[in-house]
Amino acid sequence: MAQTYGHFVDGTSVAGTSDRFGDVYNPSIGEVEKTVSLATVDEVNAAIESAAKAFPAWSATNPQRRARVMFKFKELIEANRDELARLISEEHGKVIADAHGDIQRGLEVIEVACGIPHMQKGEYTDGAGPEIDVYSMRQPLGVCAGITPFNFPAMIPMWMFGMAIATGNTFVLKPSEKDPAVPLRLAELFMEAGAPEGVLNVVNGDKVAVDAILDHPAVEAVSFVGSSDIAHYVYSRGTANGKRVQAMGGAKNHGIILPDADMDQVVQDLLGAAYGSAGERCMALPVAVPVGQSTADTLIEKLIPEIEKLKVGVSTDPDAHYGPLISEAHRAKVQEYVQMGVDEGAKLVVDGRDFSLQGYEKGFFMGPCLFDHVTEDMKTYKEEIFGPVLQVVRAETFEEAVALPTKHQYGNGVAIFTSNGRFARQFAHKVQVGMVGINVPIPVPVSYHSFGGWKRSAFGDANQYGMEGVRFYTKVKTITQRWPEGQTEDSAFIIPTMQ
Ligand code: NAD
Repeated sequence: MAQTYGHFVDGTSVAGTSDRFGDVYNPSIGEVEKTVSLATVDEVNAAIESAAKAFPAWSATNPQRRARVMFKFKELIEANRDELARLISEEHGKVIADAHGDIQRGLEVIEVACGIPHMQKGEYTDGAGPEIDVYSMRQPLGVCAGITPFNFPAMIPMWMFGMAIATGNTFVLKPSEKDPAVPLRLAELFMEAGAPEGVLNVVNGDKVAVDAILDHPAVEAVSFVGSSDIAHYVYSRGTANGKRVQAMGGAKNHGIILPDADMDQVVQDLLGAAYGSAGERCMALPVAVPVGQSTADTLIEKLIPEIEKLKVGVSTDPDAHYGPLISEAHRAKVQEYVQMGVDEGAKLVVDGRDFSLQGYEKGFFMGPCLFDHVTEDMKTYKEEIFGPVLQVVRAETFEEAVALPTKHQYGNGVAIFTSNGRFARQFAHKVQVGMVGINVPIPVPVSYHSFGGWKRSAFGDANQYGMEGVRFYTKVKTITQRWPEGQTEDSAFIIPTMQ
């Protein structure tokens, strides 16, 4: 009997009661190893009620004590890192080194959350008027919810619940149904770290669970990360129901390569950024834009032999650069995009579609693909592919290259490779994208800055984590106070006037 994942509600693991299940694959072997119960509306409501019940006491817990739970949680993640990485690699298919990266980048948000007493201190103005002082505080919202994608099952949940809970909220997480093991394990560790029951709940599920969250009146804020159409849907439905929503979507990040870039370094950067984690990263770099024909020719010439050296393998193979895709359906979709690229007239220089790993023929593997002469009008350029496919779009000038990411529907990340500071600065200033790398291929901001794209890569105003996370998960209250001389607490209350 395959293991069936349930939920984590009110401080404990609970079996699901629904008659609907999702398959959880091991993508390296291409077989269903576990199933997950897909929550009913009642189950989601129970998790929200548990969080609502926990809110008064948790929000009244002083920030230093809340931080102590975060410190302990950080220790527990470190102590269980190998187990978590193994679970990620088993269900997601990313190689162990990438799985450790997934944990590490989430852990760094928890480290920032340990500093919550300082971050949530509020502001004070002494003497804003005659004997009048003004202070403002950031109070938690109540029950917050997070809906997360399959590709970072540790990092993205921690981006969300780390900041939400540290600021005094309680939380309901609805992780991806494709790799539910780690979010559930994180909830167990969070309890072990000393969090009271109900502060962090996990419900597994699909659209039914998402809609139940979006429609529940007790949910004050929703943080979403996933594909853009669903992000837009979550943003629209959540805000229509009066909730605060931040919804991060898909991406198509460009890497602009100027003729003065260190081409050997660029090639190595592209290999990691385009093919790492099988291209299933929202900060992957699937579009390379060399400026000038000779830059493009050199790039292609140097890339091909390096791509051919990439090792695709099972997620536990320490020598593999990347593992399988998440599912057979997703691999088929990526392969369709590759065929579409050929039909659209791009030149397929490396074709990894027929790749099969000996002994793992049922695994969802795909070899790396490289396209040259991709143009702006192609559907395969306009859309997110989310697989091991690198597209080279040749630009004649710097201006033409900068215009590409600026005009693109997505605006998550972008990078420029050059040794010219002036061009780099101009580029960073002008480009209409939320996160920019200068000779940095994957510019995911460190945890004390914040993460967020522009255009169809993010709906809503607030970024994830850092001070932006504190702002998203709190509301400001401003108090204007005056204590006139000679009055005691028993004196008549006088409302200050403008005189
Ligand atoms: P997805 O949009 O399919 O799923 C994300 C979440 O939405 C999951 O929890 C899923 O259960 C839920 N969901 C799916 N269909 C739904 C529906 N019809 N109604 C309501 N909820 C629904 O995304 P995915 O395939 O899990 O993840 C890959 C996508 O996420 C890519 O597009 C990638 O670029 C994006 N992503 C973006 C960021 C970012 O920060 N911008 C980070 C990681 C991933």
